[in-house]
Amino acid sequence: MNNNIVVLKFGGTSVATPDRIRQVAELVLKKQQKGQKVVVVVSARAKMTDALIEDARSFSSDPAPREMDMLLTSGERISSALLSIALNALGAAAISLTGSQAGIITDDDHTNARIIEIRPARVVQALADDRIVVVSGFQGVSFKKEVTTLGRGGSDISAVALASALGAQVCEIYSDVDGVYAADPNVVRDPAKISELSYQEMQELAEAGAKVLHPKSVEFAKVKGTIIHAKSTFVADGEGTIIKNLEGRIKPRVVGVASEQKVILARCRDEGHAGVIARLVDSLAEANVKVKQISFSEVGDGVTSGNFIIAEKENYHIESVVPRLEASFPGTLHVSRHLGAISLIGAGINDRYDFLRDCLRLLRQEGLGPASLHTSSFRISALVPRDRLDHAVNLLYEHFLRSETKNDAQS
Ligand code: ASP
Ligand code: MG
Repeated sequence: MNNNIVVLKFGGTSVATPDRIRQVAELVLKKQQKGQKVVVVVSARAKMTDALIEDARSFSSDPAPREMDMLLTSGERISSALLSIALNALGAAAISLTGSQAGIITDDDHTNARIIEIRPARVVQALADDRIVVVSGFQGVSFKKEVTTLGRGGSDISAVALASALGAQVCEIYSDVDGVYAADPNVVRDPAKISELSYQEMQELAEAGAKVLHPKSVEFAKVKGTIIHAKSTFVADGEGTIIKNLEGRIKPRVVGVASEQKVILARCRDEGHAGVIARLVDSLAEANVKVKQISFSEVGDGVTSGNFIIAEKENYHIESVVPRLEASFPGTLHVSRHLGAISLIGAGINDRYDFLRDCLRLLRQEGLGPASLHTSSFRISALVPRDRLDHAVNLLYEHFLRSETKNDAQS
């Protein structure tokens, strides 16, 4: 019944200038003229969020998370109001809503809140009144009535979660690239575009650093099988990439290589069962640090060695946390900040040894370690020197993906 609702999400570069906002407004209007009920979700204008974080850091290296949320949500609010004004100027009837007004309810984990429920009554009413609804992405409201943000890149989560809650079949994610590529086009020359991806592959690619889509958004798409269509605002009729349920229909493959520059490796040694690792976990939790991966194992003689991988971008206060941790764990904690993470992604990647063996051989031949390696059923991830990360990405891309015809997803 709701099948003619479509949710469109526009990233920061798509709303960066008045001309671009006008271009977006025209695109949105065309959708409405096709008879669709349109909900638009927007990000803050390009570089705005970074600039606001810099502003906050000029006062404090450890700003209160609640205040960061008050600050950062303003970026998306500007975009939604401007787009709504632009749409109305073109003769449409548009209304902008904050995340809170759109009914996006989250937990109270400031700067990294989770959507727990969507009550889109106002959105539904506005659509029934034939309005175009423009929602500020990246934000919600907690049950304590505080404004929250969903983590960097979180407008994608707002869009897909709203699409799912409204029963839209498709959520179109518009950015300045025409879909998802097998590697970052800023790092690898002319990488192939992926035409179809499974939810899990997309989620893993995004978690490993591919920037087109927030990994958590995929979780919301899975709930009702909402199809995500990633495409370009600026390439009319570009095909983009379709992300949908392909589970169980793919033969083992490598679909992409992704990387993340700024990761911190914290190594920790616990001698004689002193509980150092558990205490480090406590400290990280207390300092509200988002950790990407934790692993530890006994290495003999009552010594346990632990690895904690932390992404810098998800932790606004990292510069004050690292020295504090180092001071609290003298001699037992060693923090490396010269590494980057590289990942090969694909369904069934660990069903066979050859992907891992080739990966290890290539990295070793080039003297790239790795400093640590981790596999899962969709991923092989390694830490290599940060200053040679782009080289490593090219190396793996050329070997695994350059000559492949990757676009035949289904066997
Ligand atoms: N403006 C926010 C950020 O830069 C959210 C988003 O762009 O999706 O992280
Ligand atoms: Mg984004």
